[in-house]
Amino acid sequence: MMKRDAHIHTPFCPHGSSDAFEQYIEKAIAHGFTHISFTEHAPLPAGFIDPTPDQDSGMAHDKLDAYFTTLSDLKKQYARDITIATGLEVDYIIGYERETTQFLQTYGAQLDDAILSVHFLRFQNAYTCIDFSADEFMRFAKQIGSVQAVYDLYYETLQSSIITPLGDYKPTRIGHPTLVHKFQRAHGEVIDDDAAIQQTLQLMQQHGYELDVNSAGLAKRDCLEQYPPKPYVQYAKSLGIPLVFGSDAHTAQDLHQFYEDVFASI
Ligand code: ZN
Ligand code: FE
Repeated sequence: MMKRDAHIHTPFCPHGSSDAFEQYIEKAIAHGFTHISFTEHAPLPAGFIDPTPDQDSGMAHDKLDAYFTTLSDLKKQYARDITIATGLEVDYIIGYERETTQFLQTYGAQLDDAILSVHFLRFQNAYTCIDFSADEFMRFAKQIGSVQAVYDLYYETLQSSIITPLGDYKPTRIGHPTLVHKFQRAHGEVIDDDAAIQQTLQLMQQHGYELDVNSAGLAKRDCLEQYPPKPYVQYAKSLGIPLVFGSDAHTAQDLHQFYEDVFASI
């Protein structure tokens, strides 16, 4: 039986850990996983200035070749024990569609798997990384008017990521589509985004995307919830959307976190 974790970060992540690929792979094998995808944050589009303090949201562009080479070696090395996919988590950034398409056109043929995610929101020509910190999230909410406004902008951007063409190598899976919940316990507001989530999933179905059923939020103290929450995973399932587990691990310790709870019974 196939057991898969298809959202895993690597030592190539500038904000992650230096845990070695082998630590992830050997843990996956030990836990009976048959398929894993390494999906490092792709280099951010040419010309985009990363708004985070350390500008470390994406992989350095000049590391990309080493990333691909390392993975192709590991694939061979572990071929008898586990199937390893070479992937990337690609940002969808409003205003950088052309650059992102160009990037995918250049490197897409080397990918077995990829995720399209929204981490950056544009407001008045400036960008904010909404999953960076609670302080940053709250600053942004103040700037644009309310927490509700952040949610609205998030789902608008997410839906745009689904419907916008990005060339032949556009990723086939949408990453953590309720990431805007990450600081829900820090702001404490109850936002009704039920319709927005359902609409988003309907669009995913219409456009043939898979869903990243992502457990990482459960470990974030201001979130304590998977992305998307369980009822929406059931809804996605009822729509026939392919469900793909992702632990979004940035350390070997976090690999497969909450797999049983999030995925084993759906
Ligand atoms: Zn990351
Ligand atoms: Fe992500």
